[in-house]
Amino acid sequence: MTSLDRNSCIALDQADPLADLRQQFSLPEGVIYLDGNSLGAMPKASAARAQQVIAQEWGTDLIKSWNKAGWFDLPSRLGNLLAPLIGARADEVVVTDSTSINLFKAIAAALHLQAEQTQRKVIVTERSNFPTDIYMAEGLTRWLDKGYRLHLVESPEELISAINAETALVMLTHVNYRTGYLHDMAAITAHAHQQGALALWDLAHSAGAVPVDLHTAKADFAVGCTYKYLNGGPGSPAFIWVPQTHQASFNHPLTGWWGHATPFAMQPSFNATAGIRRALCGTQPIVSLAMVECGLQVFAQTSMSAIRTKSLALTDLFIALVESRCQAHPLQLVTPRAHAQRGSQASFTHPHAYAVIQALIERGVIGDYREPAIMRFGFTPLYTRFIDVWDAVEGLRDVLDNKAYSLNAERNAVT
Ligand SMILES: *Cc1c(COP(=O)(O)O)cnc(C)c1O
Repeated sequence: MTSLDRNSCIALDQADPLADLRQQFSLPEGVIYLDGNSLGAMPKASAARAQQVIAQEWGTDLIKSWNKAGWFDLPSRLGNLLAPLIGARADEVVVTDSTSINLFKAIAAALHLQAEQTQRKVIVTERSNFPTDIYMAEGLTRWLDKGYRLHLVESPEELISAINAETALVMLTHVNYRTGYLHDMAAITAHAHQQGALALWDLAHSAGAVPVDLHTAKADFAVGCTYKYLNGGPGSPAFIWVPQTHQASFNHPLTGWWGHATPFAMQPSFNATAGIRRALCGTQPIVSLAMVECGLQVFAQTSMSAIRTKSLALTDLFIALVESRCQAHPLQLVTPRAHAQRGSQASFTHPHAYAVIQALIERGVIGDYREPAIMRFGFTPLYTRFIDVWDAVEGLRDVLDNKAYSLNAERNAVT
């Protein structure tokens, strides 16, 4: 790998079957964007679509657009477009609400389903899970006040032994947001089922990043994000997946009118609709929701296996270049080297990680910082080039060699 130079990265780009897709994104000149795992880049089509939704559908057609422009069906239509990326079937996914809210619904429905048959009280998750996942489980179980408790596992190796006859629900994020560790969804779900537990997967860092096959893995529920690898736009609504087998028993407490069997009958009592739309709650932010389609349309032009092949090549290259060209510096890889355990990111610790990442961002190499002392770089095969990997590592080497970072860097509200 050390023999690799900038020209060989250019050659890799020339041979890249996904190279043309980059043109469909708006990327500022001089910026190497390695943060698509936090906020995906903008598909060029989004600007025109936003203009159409606002000027035509809202500005001109007004209320008629709920029917005429398909606003009311949009959560289901987008869910069906997203389904192939995660191994879901038609009419099993809706794009709606935030990941946090969808977690609340799925955890509540899972506990409700268990409580009909068992006395199980434990939710197993990881201490290193994304905080909101833990917070939502904490908030719901405290509110229920029925003796539920969380078991926070310290490492992926401890998971299997932590899932036992007391476990009601295993709630995991498929790819860890900090380290990029990728769980074996099928194996963990199989063990959970063997122990009588249900399995809820958060796909925030997997949808559009790694191949996911919810049905083959026999997962029970899933949620995920559309503003990261799916390029739906800042704060674009999240998704929730409930397989057909669980839909009739999917009972969550956010029983708003969009989940009603006949919302416009304006009945005085709630009666859940039969299919996946019972996971809906209320009126959606249509302008933001409409942008999700533009991101999904890019995925429709390729396959998750092609994306995975390039993703692993990009992260392999980045890791090899950092370890050879920055070897004089105290950088530690925290992302698994094994492909089977790696998502689409590479994270390194450095004693001055925050200051270094700020200096990199000032030079136009955008990664981000996560506690504790982690520099995180996301690789999005739809628009990241091999030459970007080379130039990003050279930027990092230069910042480190010249100590071109300020240890007094003020912490921004969003790191
Ligand atoms: C990004 C992310 C979220 C975000 O949740 P919001 O409700 O959209 O703020 C949740 N869980 C995980 C694992 C994430 O990576």
